[in-house]
Amino acid sequence: MSGIVGHSFYAVLGLKAAVERQLPLAAVAHRHFASYAAGAYLGCDIQVMPEAICLDTGREVGFGTVPLEKSPITGGPVRQYRLVTPEGPLTAYQVHERFYGRSHLVFGWKKGDAALRVPWDHLPDYFAAAIEDAFALFGPGERPLAYALGWIVHVVSDSLIKSVQPGVDLQLLDGKYTTRNRPVQDLVTFHELGVKEFHLRWAALFEDLADTPVEPLQLHYMRAAEPRGALARLFPDGWQPAAEPTLRAVLAENRRYVRQHAHDVLASLQLHDTPAGPECTPELREITGLTYAEMLEAARTANFRHALWQMGDQIAEMFAAVAHRCAPLAGLPASDGPAWNEISQRWKG
Ligand SMILES: [Zn+2]
Repeated sequence: MSGIVGHSFYAVLGLKAAVERQLPLAAVAHRHFASYAAGAYLGCDIQVMPEAICLDTGREVGFGTVPLEKSPITGGPVRQYRLVTPEGPLTAYQVHERFYGRSHLVFGWKKGDAALRVPWDHLPDYFAAAIEDAFALFGPGERPLAYALGWIVHVVSDSLIKSVQPGVDLQLLDGKYTTRNRPVQDLVTFHELGVKEFHLRWAALFEDLADTPVEPLQLHYMRAAEPRGALARLFPDGWQPAAEPTLRAVLAENRRYVRQHAHDVLASLQLHDTPAGPECTPELREITGLTYAEMLEAARTANFRHALWQMGDQIAEMFAAVAHRCAPLAGLPASDGPAWNEISQRWKG
């Protein structure tokens, strides 16, 4: 899974693992959790926009770059959606081609830009420089910082689940990350782990995520801005200030459409009661060829929880590597100060 459910859950896991390692940055992610979660999704996936327009209803449908032949609302015809930008209308695919590598860094660059790829072992330096700038150029407020921590979650988890980088062992049905097993990952994460074990309120999480503002820091760490700061000193190549107005339009579009997209995802993951127990939608049964009960069994057999544990651990490992290279991040207060019982002992009498 790598959509809004997957990346939000990776963010939660990475944060828990960061708390365990007593990394001071965890407190920032807690204080600005919605922006941290937004960074873990929109901080990277700039293709969050409609794929098409349903001609019968005029409504926007689909999800960026996933081809759509007929309207999911009426089954009728659709036409391609194009986002209006300062340089003309762009389809989701064009937006993806243009900007996807700039946020994902280690993969997703289009052919001509392959030289800009950041190798995995340079990632901590890239992140540390961007975080340094989050303090120096985009501070002193720490909301942009929380957003950038979320972006780190996404780059790491996307790389691991898509096998760009080893570190997560998962053989679920037909592989680690496949068309057939993605709904299994999403459903199990959403219901069994998210709701039942972690008591997540997904609808609230997504709504809060959608309400967060665009962070100008994102234009900077995607190098679609004037080169400046620690990031420009360490990575002087690939800056494209002329792309800034277009990327601004894209980021605003992502914020706009993520609300609709989250509603669509919530609807698609609904379970309904049957005499045999809870069951998912016919669409997801068809893609996977499994009942919901069989999906739970498949996830158990594949030790899906262990793979997610690895994911959380690897994210915290990256957080630690970044903190090691970034003095202001490592120097954040390590605790929130005295607990109320200590305050009571000292102040009450
Ligand atoms: Zn991604």
